Amino acid sequence: MVDTVQNPPPVLRVQNLKKHYVLGSSFLGGKTQTVYALDGVTFSVAERETLSIVGESGCGKSTLGKVVMGLTPATEGQVHVNGRRIDNLSVRQLRPLRREMQMVFQDPFSSLNPRMRVEDIIAEPLVNFGLAKTKAEVKERVAALLDQVRLPRAAMKRYPHEFSGGQRQRIAIARALAPGARLIVCDEAVSALDVSVKAQIINLLQEVQEELGLTLLFISHDLAIVEHLTHRVAVMYLGKIVEIADRRTLFQAPRHPYTQALLSAAPIPDPSRRSQRIMLQGDIPSPMNPPSGCRFHTRCPYAFDRCRHEEPMLSPRTNNNHMAACHLDELPAGPVAAASTLEPA
Ligand code: SF4
Repeated sequence: MVDTVQNPPPVLRVQNLKKHYVLGSSFLGGKTQTVYALDGVTFSVAERETLSIVGESGCGKSTLGKVVMGLTPATEGQVHVNGRRIDNLSVRQLRPLRREMQMVFQDPFSSLNPRMRVEDIIAEPLVNFGLAKTKAEVKERVAALLDQVRLPRAAMKRYPHEFSGGQRQRIAIARALAPGARLIVCDEAVSALDVSVKAQIINLLQEVQEELGLTLLFISHDLAIVEHLTHRVAVMYLGKIVEIADRRTLFQAPRHPYTQALLSAAPIPDPSRRSQRIMLQGDIPSPMNPPSGCRFHTRCPYAFDRCRHEEPMLSPRTNNNHMAACHLDELPAGPVAAASTLEPA
């Protein structure tokens, strides 16, 4: 465990989770390559809590969501939902547990069947899980779910293409809530929306979380959104968590250079951050060939020799719930204008 011991037991617990994709075929001596998409991730999320997973694209955060949901099998490690280990279950064994965990994707247009009416889209999980027996019962539940996501009941008879992006995301949320899920994984759920619509959907998520006692795993690259919504934040880089802390600590006292760089580049209204902007050099390295030692050393403005050879482990910083993976206990003070010119090891 890298964060607090939760009491009551966490709704979601992930231990040393790995997802490695092997590309190519070794048949007849063919060459294979391994993509280390997730490489040993550990965290837990308590009931009614929101944990946000942030990082650049390619850091493994979306893979994490898919492995947690059982949409792709883990290579190693464990996923526990409501105290039950689920990563070793077959698709058949997992099916009834899907009631407890649902996912909201970035693009509701592709996640909602365009040929189904909203009523049938939301009713589908109710029927599949046997949660409503009669047509009248189904209709009543769908109407209540539309109320919950602040859509008019007349929406029932319409098709997804008749709605705006924000309204479609409300429909996707209603569908996720339909089976009574306690854990919702939101994968870039507001990224495709306009700024004002984003805020409305975030408010909706917070309201339904409060009303229903939901636990949210919120995967996003948008730190400004995350700051509004989350209780804790985990920062990922090349398949690993490099820092995890409660929202206030992470935004006010980040201890990993990568977190500092992400925050310095985020459009969060704080004039003091602008003068301390950290310009990272280059792109995120390929997860097929992650750098030795600290995976961030090829872009870190503070990298030194040890960083090339020795991998830093997550360890406590400002308090026991604040962990960062960096060889430096304290980062040098003052603005950093340019990234290190260290060549990759
Ligand atoms: Fe930078 Fe070294 Fe810390 Fe990695 S361990 S973040 S390279 S200072």
